[in-house]
Amino acid sequence: MKVISLKPVVDQAKCIGCGICAKVCPAVAITVTAKKAVIAEEHCRGCGGCNQRCPVEAIAMVRMEKPYQVAVAIDDVDYQAITRLCVAAKLHPEQIICYCTTTRAEEVAAAILKGARSPEELSRQTGIRMGCKVECIQPVLRLLQAAGITPERPPGYQWYGLTPTVWDIPEAVKAKYNSRGFYFDEDIKLLEQVVHASVKKEEGK
Ligand code: SF4
Ligand code: SF4
Repeated sequence: MKVISLKPVVDQAKCIGCGICAKVCPAVAITVTAKKAVIAEEHCRGCGGCNQRCPVEAIAMVRMEKPYQVAVAIDDVDYQAITRLCVAAKLHPEQIICYCTTTRAEEVAAAILKGARSPEELSRQTGIRMGCKVECIQPVLRLLQAAGITPERPPGYQWYGLTPTVWDIPEAVKAKYNSRGFYFDEDIKLLEQVVHASVKKEEGK
């Protein structure tokens, strides 16, 4: 969930058509036409990434007269299905996965179960990835992967692929680093306890 109160405005006289803004926009809301940036307002979620990256300061963020909210309701989705998807992605449904917007795993899972198929769609629908854009892309990709979806990367620097997690560390590497104070198996046990607490909560209903 995110309240959008700012919108980017391009100064066409300043824009040199470099396309950097389009390459960083997490909602893929920008195109460059006739060497000028054009922003699709209906897709923009006001993160300011374009404004921060424009090399000639051609984009200003202006306050909207009527802020609005984007969010995906979870009440009309089977919560057991949400829990199953989150657990498959090794996340607790109530876990905040985007600290900038305080979006929880359950909302993103609900959006996927309702048909979202890419990080960009999830950003437009839930507002996730509209802050730092760094921390939340991994849980977003994990949730999509757990749903059997392999999204196509947009043609820019919006995100890279999945990075390894503690569950991917080979046994030989774990053994090597155990003696140096890295306790991967203990970490996995603790994380799984947190994730599976959601299943027990659902079963107890
Ligand atoms: S979503 Fe962010 S980067 Fe994209 S157009 Fe809106 S403010 Fe700019
Ligand atoms: S980054 Fe700035 S100069 Fe480059 S296309 Fe976007 S608005 Fe124009």
